[in-house]
Amino acid sequence: YAAKQRNEGAVVYEDAIDKGSQQSLSLLTELRQAVENNEFRLFVQPKVTLATGRVVGVEALVRWQHPVRGNVFPDQFIPFAEQTGFIRVLTHWVLERSAELCHALAQRGIHLKVSVNLSTRDLLDQELPFKFGEIFMRHHVSPGAFCLEITESAIMDDPVRAQQTLERLHGMGCDLSIDDFGTGYSSLAYLKRLPVDELKIDKSFVLNMANDVGDAKIVRSTIDLGHNMGLRVVAEGIESEAAWHILAEMGCDQGQGYFMSRPMPADQLASWVETWRAPALAE
Ligand code: C2E
Ligand code: MG
Ligand code: MG
Ligand code: MG
Repeated sequence: YAAKQRNEGAVVYEDAIDKGSQQSLSLLTELRQAVENNEFRLFVQPKVTLATGRVVGVEALVRWQHPVRGNVFPDQFIPFAEQTGFIRVLTHWVLERSAELCHALAQRGIHLKVSVNLSTRDLLDQELPFKFGEIFMRHHVSPGAFCLEITESAIMDDPVRAQQTLERLHGMGCDLSIDDFGTGYSSLAYLKRLPVDELKIDKSFVLNMANDVGDAKIVRSTIDLGHNMGLRVVAEGIESEAAWHILAEMGCDQGQGYFMSRPMPADQLASWVETWRAPALAE
């Protein structure tokens, strides 16, 4: 009886593995098809200078418009894309669309810095700087019009190779930003070693700032730390005018958040910029 139980256990277990890998396989197939069927969408969220309200950039955020499942958010497929290596295709796609957008905006006289998120795998790919250079050239945009956002965990995996890739991208003229600052490991060591231009305070601290003294202190210290290191400091997760004012008061340079705008389809950005009015600020 015990043996049979073990056996049944094993069967169930194998079934579970089988089901899991089949699901993964079909998700990978779906991701590949999504590129061919044009199911990815480039969304962008504006970044503004907090002291003046001027729009200075956008962050590119990918969306997957799945024919059956509807709008799929990046948290649901980026980690899987990273594990399987599909992220390489996706990163190229995002940079390609971002370069297109940058060029189209420039032709309308709108000059914005476009921030693109990079993943662990991207930093291990030594061909990446060449590929990026090729995309910039083909779309007649300058590398200086781009900022590459990296997370601390992305750098952890293979620090030496990641550093080489980042130094080459920075050498080409791209800005580098540490995303979700304060949530990972060894942030301070990276700030010292890498050619970083910008530090983004994670939205978890910004969202709780008004109710949590600890979070407010973390935000304030991070701004001071960034400035002491000569970096631009950006806050994400600004959902209210009050949060904007607190951050501006603390000297935070730039911000993005639902208060200004949720991420929007890239083709809506130009008209958003043209109609955007910042709230009355202490001028
Ligand atoms: P992230 O790079 O930290 O991007 C900021 C996230 O915060 C976005 O979520 C954005 O919609 C959200 N956000 C912005 N303002 C607010 C706000 O005021 N309140 C709240 N509650 N949330 C706000 P999203 O678009 O769902 O992206 C999630 C994460 O997925 C990103 O975090 C980034 O790590 C990753 N991701 C998105 N697009 C890409 C991409 O093209 N490539 C890679 N590698 N990762 C991406
Ligand atoms: Mg980001
Ligand atoms: Mg972030
Ligand atoms: Mg984040």
